[in-house]
Amino acid sequence: MTSDKALGAEDETHIALANALHEEIRDFCALHWPQEACGLLIASIDSPNRIERVVFAKNVAKDPLVSFEIDPQTLIDCHRNARQKGERVVGCFHSHPNGKALPSPTDRARADENGFLWLVIATEHNRAAESGMYRIIHPDAGDNTDHPELRYFRRCQILDG
Ligand SMILES: [Zn+2]
Repeated sequence: MTSDKALGAEDETHIALANALHEEIRDFCALHWPQEACGLLIASIDSPNRIERVVFAKNVAKDPLVSFEIDPQTLIDCHRNARQKGERVVGCFHSHPNGKALPSPTDRARADENGFLWLVIATEHNRAAESGMYRIIHPDAGDNTDHPELRYFRRCQILDG
């Protein structure tokens, strides 16, 4: 392994997200309380740990008070636009109107893309509380068998930048 690769591995827990963009996400989530709000995190292919922009999505879940589902059309458009611009959808965000910034067991079960970033914004009575940035790790990646019960969320640090 080259030293560059070692550095890259270390940097995987440091996610750059400009304060202004972070606040925009938090405001969007706060405005949707008591419902869950959601969207996607986009980065340039060259620097996947730096969030360049965010796409706000409609939550089309049957019960948006307790779950979220990103509008499928937004997902399709978002992936297509990103490809055309040399970008990648590196993560998603959603809010927890119960005020807890930890990902839920449901989130873990749905985190099918290894390495995907999950930003969780805790919301309480129209204000955003804690933000938690996580990366889902599939320890069995590369293995052909899927063991969702072994997945875990690795806590990441949000850096202003
Ligand atoms: Zn959740």
